[in-house]
Amino acid sequence: MSDFATHSKDRDFLSMLDHGPVICAEGYLFELERRGYLQAGAFVPEVVLENPEAVIRLHEDFVHAGTDIVEAFTYYAHREKLKIIGREGDLERINRQALQIARDVSDRNGCLMAGNICNTNVFEADDPATHATVRAMFEEQIGWAVDEGADLLIAETVDWCGEAEIALDVMKQTGLPTVVTLSVHREEKMFDGVDVVESCRRLEAAGADVVGLNCQRGPKTMMPVARRVREAVACHVAALPVPYRTFEAEPTFQSLTDSACSCIPQNRPFPTALDPFTCNRYECAEFAREAYDAGIHYIGLCCGAAPHHIRAVAEELGRLTPGSRYSPDMSKHMFFGTDAAIAERYKSRRTNL
Ligand SMILES: [Zn+2]
Repeated sequence: MSDFATHSKDRDFLSMLDHGPVICAEGYLFELERRGYLQAGAFVPEVVLENPEAVIRLHEDFVHAGTDIVEAFTYYAHREKLKIIGREGDLERINRQALQIARDVSDRNGCLMAGNICNTNVFEADDPATHATVRAMFEEQIGWAVDEGADLLIAETVDWCGEAEIALDVMKQTGLPTVVTLSVHREEKMFDGVDVVESCRRLEAAGADVVGLNCQRGPKTMMPVARRVREAVACHVAALPVPYRTFEAEPTFQSLTDSACSCIPQNRPFPTALDPFTCNRYECAEFAREAYDAGIHYIGLCCGAAPHHIRAVAEELGRLTPGSRYSPDMSKHMFFGTDAAIAERYKSRRTNL
């Protein structure tokens, strides 16, 4: 196992990718919602301003679990979302604060800090006016990310090929490394009808350093698409599924149904009743192995991910993380342990539990 102490902020993102896996923990919205600092629905990261210590804590928990990248929590901290909740006036403040928090956690732990832009929920392929609006939204956020010292830039959870192309164009102008990851819903096409693999091809041709997929799909339904992306492009590929058990008939976490429960609002597990579908850490590790063996070097998890999932991913990929000191060792368990110090009469009870 390589030691986490070899991490250094001087390490170059692109050469890290060439030499092995780069791990990126995402999914801050869901984890901070579960911790009680963020509201499901609008999903705006007001927590950055209202409870910054909760954001710092979560970044640190993911670093402890082995993430290489600390992604600034600017997901949905864009003009359209802040307008919806009546906080457009806080736009620059929330972005800069999220970036400064991520930069600080990164510097203290030798990680890379990523600026982040995402789906705007404004773009329409056949309405050029929205293209200009989206470009302006990306430009202001990317400007702040550069200003606050981002090491790389991520555009994520993008539903439209056209929107991803604008995001990439804006990011490319900074000269920083770029990652573009797309949302794949039930259909393997973007909202503008462009096949997701073709979209990744176009993004590579336009100069993206990393192309791939994030969110929406669990490991089992994302991996077949991610493999096709891997075969179609020469650049690095990213896969960051949601850690939920999706399957062919319900391939996304928004399409999951739960016949075992009748008390869920609107009878839809997404987004606050997905608990019984959560992948365990071993399934997350299995995904990481499968992705890496397929030649995918940028690996992470999105909405639903918790630190124990990321630690399992990191350890599967050969890392010893700070949190690995507390990774499971059942040898000393009172019933299931094998340690000689455990009384045989307790060990013998394991079959009756
Ligand atoms: Zn997500």
